[in-house]
Amino acid sequence: MTILIKNIKELLQVRDENTLKVSGSQMKELPSITNAYLLIEDDTIVDFGSMIDVSNVKADKTIDATNKVVLPTWCDSHTHIVYAGDRSQEFVDRINGLSYEDIANRGGGIVNSAKTLQNTTEDDLYNQSIQRVKDVMHLGTGAIEIKSGYGLTPDAELKMLRVIKRIKKDFPVKVKATFLGAHALPLEFKTNKQGYLDQIINDMLPQIAKENLAQYIDVFCEKGYFDLNDTAQILEAGLKYNLIPKIHVNQFNAFGGVALAVKYGAISVDHLEELNTEDIKVLKDSNTMPVALPSCSYFLSIPYTPGRQLIDAGLPLALATDYNPGSTPSGNMNFVVSTACIKMKLTPEEAINAATLNGAYAMGISKQYGSITKGKKANIIITKPISGYHYLPYAFGDNHIDQVIINGTII
Ligand SMILES: [Zn+2]
Repeated sequence: MTILIKNIKELLQVRDENTLKVSGSQMKELPSITNAYLLIEDDTIVDFGSMIDVSNVKADKTIDATNKVVLPTWCDSHTHIVYAGDRSQEFVDRINGLSYEDIANRGGGIVNSAKTLQNTTEDDLYNQSIQRVKDVMHLGTGAIEIKSGYGLTPDAELKMLRVIKRIKKDFPVKVKATFLGAHALPLEFKTNKQGYLDQIINDMLPQIAKENLAQYIDVFCEKGYFDLNDTAQILEAGLKYNLIPKIHVNQFNAFGGVALAVKYGAISVDHLEELNTEDIKVLKDSNTMPVALPSCSYFLSIPYTPGRQLIDAGLPLALATDYNPGSTPSGNMNFVVSTACIKMKLTPEEAINAATLNGAYAMGISKQYGSITKGKKANIIITKPISGYHYLPYAFGDNHIDQVIINGTII
């Protein structure tokens, strides 16, 4: 099956196969072709170029993209999209003055989500989660990382990871799975943190490896959750099973988590709302992708990741949603791109690079995803008629997407 998209007003993010991420001033550039065509064969991008050269191109199906912009789908490299229930009551509690930490101390927060999930069957969890997966696909997400971490018992963590595996099998969206057993301390281990770490290392990890349920390992490295020593134990144990670190650091405090993650070869460090000069220095000498989660900052009214500072220091940056029931009940990458421009002062070019190619890098998939490149997967957003791509972040809060193609399938 071949699909020809023709009369494209502007085809964005056109790259050769050797560009796997963009850093610093390169992020200001978004290579494009105006008045373009794009040819898809089955699940692959096979050709593109100027409409002047289109006369020899034949296809089974043709889509007319007059006045429309075409770009690669979003690559959302940080989500917790598999969860049970919601935490809208805590949302109201926060409006009434309680902090995220107050709520966690009362037994709310992550532990609350874990209790609900433990009492949810695998099928029910799958059915709740795929509704959200379908929604984000329609919002232009074509590749997604999904974490465990709302189980916090061996059974419930495995249940989450098996649901992620089913999503990977049942949907065209590209899925990468991350084991986040060290997301919060379960109540029964409140005075015995080492006991829980041992359970993660000795009970959960071997089974996850046996069933091949995760590619990455994550820790919520934060004061009051897991310190540097705890994080090192988990990452070290994960590496024995070839699980690459991809960790939550510097959301509320900067205390050396970035350096630790880099030391263990993390593919990404995520959050970074609190960042010091030492962190930036460490990242400059690494292959680790910094990931900002602006809709989390928006929802919690905490500082935004200093993305401008990271890019101006010559670093790359990726953008992701952090879709989760507590701090970001939204998986809308379009909103993330807008918020990065509005609140973090990224240019539209930087934000689109961060949400496509660099997002793919942060999931280890930028050889196949994240740009319009011959041989890459046919993951395409076709916008409604718009004045140009600047309009996408500018006219925030509305859906400007007309059609989404994922793995060659029109969604
Ligand atoms: Zn997260």
